[in-house]
Amino acid sequence: MKGSQGRIDHERLSGGAHAGRLPADPCGAIRNELEQAREEIRRLQRTLNRIQQIARLGYWKASLKENELFWSETTYDIFGVDPGTFTPSIRGFKAMVHPEDLESVEASMWRAQETGTHDVEHRIIRPDGEIRWVHELADYVPEGDEQILIGTVRDITEQKKLELRLRQLSRTDELTTLYNRRYFMQRLLQELARYRRYGRHASVVLFDFDHFKRINDTHGHPAGDQVLLNVGKLLREKLRTNDIPARLGGEEFALLLPETSLEEAVGVAEKVRQLVQEQAFTSEEGHRFGVTITCGVSAFHGTEETVEAILHRADQNLYEGKRAGRNRVVADEPGR
Ligand code: GH3
Ligand code: MG
Ligand code: MG
Repeated sequence: MKGSQGRIDHERLSGGAHAGRLPADPCGAIRNELEQAREEIRRLQRTLNRIQQIARLGYWKASLKENELFWSETTYDIFGVDPGTFTPSIRGFKAMVHPEDLESVEASMWRAQETGTHDVEHRIIRPDGEIRWVHELADYVPEGDEQILIGTVRDITEQKKLELRLRQLSRTDELTTLYNRRYFMQRLLQELARYRRYGRHASVVLFDFDHFKRINDTHGHPAGDQVLLNVGKLLREKLRTNDIPARLGGEEFALLLPETSLEEAVGVAEKVRQLVQEQAFTSEEGHRFGVTITCGVSAFHGTEETVEAILHRADQNLYEGKRAGRNRVVADEPGR
């Protein structure tokens, strides 16, 4: 900070050109200096508040042992509470943390006492019900037996929304908005790990449209796209929320069905096969047409199971279904 308003002006205090003589009212001069210093502090405080608002960055100080908490103006803003009526406390703060995130917030606070740093991203629920994401970054600075955290809180809601959107896009198939192959494989690996560790069953259904080249040739590529789009919608609507429907590419789809036995998976595949068969489509020329699919089903099986093996079996079953005349479900032989 430049300028002399905040600094004590010794020349004027000592009378300047009239050095050696006392000013008429020495106390008044000191009062004046003090008032100027206070005004400077108020101005700095306003600048600091403004900077915090622009950066959406709040400042806070917590005494863990005493359950005491100080909040800067912007911190009140971020939490959506009125400094006039709300008294911050660690308990009060925790009550505003999203219940699903409370554990990680508390863990970070405990960790800070060892590592010296509290660093956590979490949601808060404001009194108006709005959910916001914040990033808290704080230093642990014990003072005697006082456990003090001095930190910042930044509103990262917009950034988080973007992140979530990007993550969603990276796992989504563009045409059908089902999951894409990459995400399907990732989830299949996770399910395999769960199967190996905890013996949780899961099944896979692969399906491929029958004579899809003919559909394109007869009714046009856009009609073919419409079929894929509609079937995508059908899968989203008719499957359980835990199921993972994906478009692996072209007109090949897959369902990952967690907690589902081979027998149940055959039931799901049969249901999907029938639903697809019941759909009626209309080409751009106004011709009505229907489509069918062939499904191959397999389930995690045995101690040597791999992702490649379960997909290979499902693919083999699908191929067998095609050979046997299409529009059917073929599964692993039970006990194999
Ligand atoms: P099959 O019953 O043996 O599966 O016969 P098919 O004609 O469906 O043969 P195959 O599965 O090998 O061929 C798939 C065809 O689907 C080839 C391609 O023209 C078409 N196709 C692949 N992706 C798309 C797409 O995104 N949109 C449209 N409209 N057609 C696609
Ligand atoms: Mg096909
Ligand atoms: Mg195909």
